[in-house]
Amino acid sequence: MAFKFFRPDVAYNDIYLITPHVLAEMGVKGIVFDIDNTIAPYEIIRPTDAMNNYFATLKQAGIKLAFVSNNKGDRVTTFNEGLGLFYVCKAGKPSPKGVLKCIQHFGLKKEEVIAIGDQIFTDCLAAHRAGIRFALVKPIKDKKTWFFRMKRFFERPFVKNLKWIRRKKKNQELHPAKEKKSRFRIRRKKKDNGKAI
Ligand SMILES: [Mg+2]
Repeated sequence: MAFKFFRPDVAYNDIYLITPHVLAEMGVKGIVFDIDNTIAPYEIIRPTDAMNNYFATLKQAGIKLAFVSNNKGDRVTTFNEGLGLFYVCKAGKPSPKGVLKCIQHFGLKKEEVIAIGDQIFTDCLAAHRAGIRFALVKPIKDKKTWFFRMKRFFERPFVKNLKWIRRKKKNQELHPAKEKKSRFRIRRKKKDNGKAI
């Protein structure tokens, strides 16, 4: 299988960076989410307030949402209880079947749907085999088993040189110009003082 099947189309530090604005720019109207380590670590069985708010924002923007998980039914149904989204559990990713079911359920074109997940050999491959784009996110909390370590090791060539989209630092975002200006002022003051003496 070609390299491009394993290569994410885009990479984000976390799901919250994928806002309705970002999705609109990409022409995305539907999202197929992985759950474990993409939205929540394994031990979080129900969405937190932050997660619920995020899904509400997406829903309000008219974006269709679904879960495709390789995990068991009770994990997915418990997590989805308050959300009531379309879901496929025991999806057997990298099989594209679950993703294709979601696209069909959405009634959208493949180019209007994106999958979001934390793993190359399951999430990314399933999305690309289904013919849709894939956004990789950093795993929230990896399992420490040798199996997971091996997986991450073999993922390396496919995530190499990916341009990760990160949240800007607070100061940088808020006052980039102001900070420069104030430094300049301090320098000028010192110079003036020098002259005065
Ligand atoms: Mg996962």
